[in-house]
Amino acid sequence: MGFGEIAPDRRVRVQGEPVASYPRIAPEVERGAVRRITVVGEEILRRRCREVVEFGTPGLARLIDDMFATNQVAEGAGLAANQIDVDLRVFVWDMTDDWGVRHVGHIVNPVLDEVPADERELVEETEGCLSVPGPYRMVPRLGRAVVRGRDKEGKPLVVEGRGYFARCLQHETDHVNGRLYLDRLARRERKTALREMEEAKEEAFARRAANAAKWGK
Ligand SMILES: [Zn+2]
Repeated sequence: MGFGEIAPDRRVRVQGEPVASYPRIAPEVERGAVRRITVVGEEILRRRCREVVEFGTPGLARLIDDMFATNQVAEGAGLAANQIDVDLRVFVWDMTDDWGVRHVGHIVNPVLDEVPADERELVEETEGCLSVPGPYRMVPRLGRAVVRGRDKEGKPLVVEGRGYFARCLQHETDHVNGRLYLDRLARRERKTALREMEEAKEEAFARRAANAAKWGK
């Protein structure tokens, strides 16, 4: 780094905003309970989830805490509410992007900004899903994504992601719209991914159970 250059901002982004410090384990994880993660084939993953209409409720706060705890134990990047069998438009994330920046947060009633066709820059990277335990596949996604919604108190929220975080925002918004990354694969790829899942899922479930025990959840 030469004179006059600005050091990259590696601060943790909480709800899209940089913070001076943040615990390794998000407070939501400490408070939350682990719930069962739904698996591809379950109807709730195929439905557009319902809008949240009541904000600032203990129920919504508890849902977000439980989603964080479940995501942590399953070693996920992000998790949508229908992945714990709740029909609501909510997702959470706790992940580190391609530049080593950690992003933590939740969003309610998320909507992705549309990008005009001539500005769409697709990036191919591997992607997996906690509801499709085991396989990873290459999926094209936009390299930059902006999602708009509200926080649990109802305050408007805009979150921007690049690289792997952009991928996460798109993957989770797909979930609340009833879509899985499998839907973005060619038919044959989808079939081999599902076959791989059948072989790998028990091991994935066992690993989650072991993590839950380790975390006292
Ligand atoms: Zn997923």
